[in-house]
Amino acid sequence: MTAPHAQPLTSLDEWEDDLKTRYPEPDKPAFKATDPEKKKEEFRNYAANARPSVREFYRLNHTYQTYDFVREKKADYLKLNRRQMTVWEAAEFLNNLVDDSDPDTDLSQLDHLLQTAEHIRHDGKPRWFILAGFVHDLGKILCLFGEPQWAVVGDTFPVGCAFSDKIVFSEFFSGNPDRTNSKLSSRLGVYNEGCGLDKIDLSWGHDEYIYHVVKHGLPEEALYMLRYHSFYPGHREGEYDYLMNDHDRKMFEWVRAFNPYDLYTKNHEKPDSKKLRPFYEDLINEYLPGKLSW
Ligand code: FE
Ligand code: FE
Repeated sequence: MTAPHAQPLTSLDEWEDDLKTRYPEPDKPAFKATDPEKKKEEFRNYAANARPSVREFYRLNHTYQTYDFVREKKADYLKLNRRQMTVWEAAEFLNNLVDDSDPDTDLSQLDHLLQTAEHIRHDGKPRWFILAGFVHDLGKILCLFGEPQWAVVGDTFPVGCAFSDKIVFSEFFSGNPDRTNSKLSSRLGVYNEGCGLDKIDLSWGHDEYIYHVVKHGLPEEALYMLRYHSFYPGHREGEYDYLMNDHDRKMFEWVRAFNPYDLYTKNHEKPDSKKLRPFYEDLINEYLPGKLSW
């Protein structure tokens, strides 16, 4: 099976923007999550109204993210032998992804990182938390290494065991060959009950990659935020609890604390990257100095 390089999204941001339709900001009028019936209905509306580009993106993602695909990508990318770059250089490199054709935003990738980090800073969070905000999407440079959108962004989910039907557009897993493999489609698959997320392969994308690039320098709380920030089936839907251990459950409080900064801090005011750069260079030097392996 050859995986296609089709790029249905106008830009990678289209996926994150779409997440806000499913997970609207609390205390905004659209939020009715306390009523499960309403929630179901909202979800049906979501699926019916989803943009064709987003739908096609998830179809590709759910069809081609197989256990073997993930293992291959990890074996390749996690050698971290492609480039040597400082964190700031990686952010500038990622900024090549800026896409003028996205009608929703004129913000660059660097702007999203700075807006996320600046909100965390504004809320008086620890310095490592701010830095987690700044680096959380640097893994999207996978796109610049030639990976298709469906192997860079999208909600992540475990492969090697049954796909939860709470995963967005789960019907598209019917096209995934692992579905017809009795081992890989069983509840536990290749894993053991409560074995802990560290032993689980999630679908391949920007989360796992950035985790490996920076894991030597940041506290564990930050590493959970980075590694699982797109794992919406886990941190928002409460799925796959049976694969987690108690330590994961405790650490997921940090993943949940991070999520609003990622989803709800986009605004049209462009951050002044020139003015902010010295603060972030200092912060980078404190935890992740020098050239890192990517
Ligand atoms: Fe992200
Ligand atoms: Fe993000």
